[in-house]
Amino acid sequence: MVPGPNERRSFRLISIIVLLPLLWIHSLFGANHPQSNDVQPITGEPKVSIKIMDAAREIKYANSASYVIQATVQNGKIEEFFSISEIKIIRDRDGLSVYDRDAGIIIEGAAHLCISEEESAGIASVNGDSYRGNIHIFPNKAGKTMKVINQLGMESYLKGVIPSEMGKRQPDELEALKAQAVAARTYALEKLLRGGKSGVLENTILDMVYAGYDKEYELANEAVDSTAGEVIMFDGNLIRAYFFSTCGGKTENIQDAWGEDPADYCVSINDGDYCAWSKSYSWEDEFEIGLLRERIDSYFKDNVGIGIKGEIQDIKIITRSGSGRVNLLKVYTDEDQYELKGDKIRWAIRSSANESRILPSTLFEIKIEKDDFGNIESVKFVGKGNGHGIGMCQCGAIGRARQGQSCREIVSTYYDGAYIIRVY
Ligand SMILES: [Zn+2]
Repeated sequence: MVPGPNERRSFRLISIIVLLPLLWIHSLFGANHPQSNDVQPITGEPKVSIKIMDAAREIKYANSASYVIQATVQNGKIEEFFSISEIKIIRDRDGLSVYDRDAGIIIEGAAHLCISEEESAGIASVNGDSYRGNIHIFPNKAGKTMKVINQLGMESYLKGVIPSEMGKRQPDELEALKAQAVAARTYALEKLLRGGKSGVLENTILDMVYAGYDKEYELANEAVDSTAGEVIMFDGNLIRAYFFSTCGGKTENIQDAWGEDPADYCVSINDGDYCAWSKSYSWEDEFEIGLLRERIDSYFKDNVGIGIKGEIQDIKIITRSGSGRVNLLKVYTDEDQYELKGDKIRWAIRSSANESRILPSTLFEIKIEKDDFGNIESVKFVGKGNGHGIGMCQCGAIGRARQGQSCREIVSTYYDGAYIIRVY
């Protein structure tokens, strides 16, 4: 429960709930490498908060069990209501109003609503999408809209994440689902520990895609349950457990893709053909030169403040990282030359068919087509893999599980030298 008259206070309370067990993790382990995996379990499962709607005007809420609405009304007073029927929540001039189908208007002008099941038995429905845990609603200051946050235990959260990240998997792929569960748990805990966005995770690719209860399935839930509380550590600290779809043969050093400090566990590894089954293992994308110029121009406008000058005369790969990914791409126009570096190349060029998508990877060759006068007509990117290449190759993990590798083997391969321990 997060009672509080305003959003900021509520967020702070949420982050305290999350941070307490984590601070204990650090004080227990410090910088020392634990001698074994039988570390004493510590405190309970942390709570996670995910923003599921940003600017709703009206929502419908129902629950498969009876539930409690706690409303923060005038002077910070909290009123409680019990219900079993569907309710409608509307952002009106004074705050949040709640209409019960049977009882009519039951709450007016609330500054915060927390809706929870009476005995954690039910599944909530918000505009027809299902969620475990509690739903918090806050009015936005401007625009007569409201923010909806799903607050739930880490393990329930992961059950809503793994199916989106790994798709529907078969029983012989369970160890890959377990590796994904441990990596996702570590990623979320590490991010919350760093204080990202006041303890609220975004439901986007920037954090992890969370689909709530609707996409859950038994095998993925088994992967979460059988690794409950397990995280990935390196040298006594939680790692930044990055993962991505398909490496195309080799993963990447973190410093080569993002220019971040090197990390001993985020180094390029040879993945053989474990991810060769993935549909993104190899790909091609051809750009008519006008479109490519448009993409690079708008990238420079957005990131440097000024677009590119002149027409493109040539485009060259200048350097590659040890894994073969393009580190430096130079674009020559008749007036100047422009550099694109590391993973940002994907965000600049994007996909020819769909601007909202980015180029699958930087592991590519380029093929330039010219007309009879030597002018560039098109540029084809012929590449391998999908994603930034740092950390765990998800399709490689699935390939390894099919070959009989365990969750622990998979994790310590992709996060070189890291190990799994149970922290709650
Ligand atoms: Zn791979």
